Amino acid sequence: MTTMDTAFDRMAPKLSPGRLFNFSAGPGTLPESVLRRAQEDIWDIFGTGMGILEHSHRGKAYDRVLAEAIADCRRLANIPDDYEVLFAQGGATTQCWMVPANLLPDGRTADYFNTGKWASDAIEEVHHYGKVHVAGSSKETRYDHIPTPEETKHSEDPAYVHFCWNNTIAGTEWQRLPDTPGKSFLVSDASSNIFSRPLDVTKLGLIYAGAQKNLGPAGTVLIIARKDVIEKPVRDLPKMQRYDVLAQNESRYNTPPTFGIYLIGQMLKWKLSWESAPGKGDALANIERYNREKAKIIYDAIDASDFYIGAARPSDRSLMNVTFRTPSEELDKLFVKQAEKEGLDGLKGHRMVGGMRASIYNSFPREGCEALAQFMREFERKNG
Ligand SMILES: *Cc1c(COP(=O)(O)O)cnc(C)c1O
Repeated sequence: MTTMDTAFDRMAPKLSPGRLFNFSAGPGTLPESVLRRAQEDIWDIFGTGMGILEHSHRGKAYDRVLAEAIADCRRLANIPDDYEVLFAQGGATTQCWMVPANLLPDGRTADYFNTGKWASDAIEEVHHYGKVHVAGSSKETRYDHIPTPEETKHSEDPAYVHFCWNNTIAGTEWQRLPDTPGKSFLVSDASSNIFSRPLDVTKLGLIYAGAQKNLGPAGTVLIIARKDVIEKPVRDLPKMQRYDVLAQNESRYNTPPTFGIYLIGQMLKWKLSWESAPGKGDALANIERYNREKAKIIYDAIDASDFYIGAARPSDRSLMNVTFRTPSEELDKLFVKQAEKEGLDGLKGHRMVGGMRASIYNSFPREGCEALAQFMREFERKNG
């Protein structure tokens, strides 16, 4: 039995009757308090007699929603003034081309790490604008690890270095930051691990995260970018494709996804509430501690058994997506089916990796990890 940190009991997510443990990789589970609050604010926000869905994106109520979301984001991640906090549409996938469109000059090369499907999707879009160099890859070993420094070879003078911080499908996560040769800077897809642990944004030029894993509803993207990096696109682009236009217009050049940004704001407030764990550190440090406990419960169950096989190299294991399998595909199928009957939903692995995947984002309760570990032990006893 793992020793649990009871300091988090007050803010930790809980499961209410009628709800399932939702292990879905995305869209993922959201905290009940956030969903309840959204229900109220859809009816009437700030006592205005109108709901958030109905307010103008240039009106006072939305001004407040946006200003609070940005301020809360800055406080949560300690984001300095020379960085913009932006919200865009089109999911993380749109950022796959917006990044090279805005940041990669003609004829220049950008370095990318190929660590899984989302990383390789990003790589495939670069050629529209410039050259791509794969600085490291784990494709040969089915993306089971993050390329080591020894496995890394940068290009001569990259414009920037892109990495996918947490590989949602393979279940691996960068535990260090890649190098940045010459004048290059880091760009990261942090969709599936944003604000799951402390991060130093000043080490990166641009971070983007689709909201539906750790931040809110699908479609909306959070972008944190150093001002000089996005000051001017490297080529002539339509306005909707430009970071500088997004920034100059406070993320509302056109009608923004107001509800998505509202809900990200509520998620940021929920994350900030972790500041108040008695005698503990800042919010993200507390969230990390809770996430580590959660992941350990499931990884321990894998490691304690000869029946389950973890898909990721232990040193690169993700805190957010735990990937594993049984000795056979038939048993994997049975596992997923029986787990569902026990109220453990969404455990089927991605078709690229197979097996099982437990996605345990920030809003996922620790009790669900315990329930899964318990189920794993019983399943092994019956089928091992
Ligand atoms: C889910 C995910 C994406 C895709 O996001 P969309 O919102 O569907 O575009 C990209 N990158 C990572 C790391 C993801 O987990």
